[in-house]
Amino acid sequence: MSKKVLFLKSQSIAKSSVLANCKLVYESPFKFERFFERFDFADEWNNLGYGRIRTDGSPYAISDFTLTDSAFDNILARYYLSDGTSGVYAGIKDNKLTFNREVGPIDGIDACLIEDFLNESKPVLIDIPYGYNSAVTMRIDCDEAISSGKQLVDLYKELSVPFSMAIKTSLDFNAASLELIRNVLENGGSVLSHSETHAPNWGGTRENAKWEAETARTKLREFLPSGYNFDFVVSPFHQNPQYAVEGLRDAGIKGFVAGIIKNDPEYLVSRASWAKNVPGIMTHSQQCMLHGDSYHNAGNTIDIYKESFENHYRSNTFFGFLDHPFSSYQYGWLNEEERLNAHKEFLLHIKKFDGIWFANLVDAMSFLWVKVNTRVWIEDDQLNWEVPPHDYKGLPDLCVLWKGEKYRVPING
Ligand SMILES: [Zn+2]
Repeated sequence: MSKKVLFLKSQSIAKSSVLANCKLVYESPFKFERFFERFDFADEWNNLGYGRIRTDGSPYAISDFTLTDSAFDNILARYYLSDGTSGVYAGIKDNKLTFNREVGPIDGIDACLIEDFLNESKPVLIDIPYGYNSAVTMRIDCDEAISSGKQLVDLYKELSVPFSMAIKTSLDFNAASLELIRNVLENGGSVLSHSETHAPNWGGTRENAKWEAETARTKLREFLPSGYNFDFVVSPFHQNPQYAVEGLRDAGIKGFVAGIIKNDPEYLVSRASWAKNVPGIMTHSQQCMLHGDSYHNAGNTIDIYKESFENHYRSNTFFGFLDHPFSSYQYGWLNEEERLNAHKEFLLHIKKFDGIWFANLVDAMSFLWVKVNTRVWIEDDQLNWEVPPHDYKGLPDLCVLWKGEKYRVPING
């Protein structure tokens, strides 16, 4: 019997509730919980890496508050509201997986439910490379300073973890900054554009966004080796209105790092994918910010970060996290020592897990771009694939889940 995934259309009747006290609970095999909404900093960063489930009748809301267990053979996730009521969020009946939400699990680690359900009958190309159990990329966003990232760079070098920098290119590329950039590249790291001026919404128009991306690329070309990969950028403030994404595509950008709850919810995606309504450019969400503010809010612990990584690990979700180099603002950290200790503890925790691909951000985005443009299908009970031509080097192979097994799809086709 063929398998189907359904997304229930939202009703117009809203149920009032306090979102922060509502949660989803996943059954085996994933066994994690998520709140309808949560924030680690102001009303924007959710370091656990998922979107916001509403109760307001919107496509992001629970669609049907009357769905009960009896409508399903198998319940995969339940929701619990702050008023004490609960219901089914995702369940299976007659080989149909139903999500009680119009947009389904698009903005959360919950997408693993679909992959797990479909792989018994269809090949599922996942965001994690073949031969690995998980994938991690880390960067600092250089909004105000570059060279003050040096101690973090040294720590990542000591722990053999690639380090990446997204740079606002109107900053001063002084000798110390250039030395650090060289250092990062020599140690397997990467450098990306973070726009020229870090303007909100990429400058507010399609033309400005194109200018920001082109100007930043021209500047970076002066400092980076010839033939360097400038296909990918990191969006300032994680803002991506559609016109800005069109402007990036006009500038020849192939993909951007985006995705936080606060703005442009359509660009908070659990899997690397084409940007909504702007085909030809990829978006990837990296919503985990390792900052002193949230470290202190959590009681001077990295527990939330550990939980976030583990949820990404279990759900085959590519995990990206970030920090910022100190300027006049220290992002909540008391001092560099406190920050270095937190990063070190976090990296050592991640390293306890087997099979992690630690990727610099350019490699991570290049790998995901190939994945997004690869097609896989079954013919005569055999796995087939079509991988796009590309010039990316040194990437691991792609991985397909099919009938509970993992299959290798060579990255070069
Ligand atoms: Zn920034």
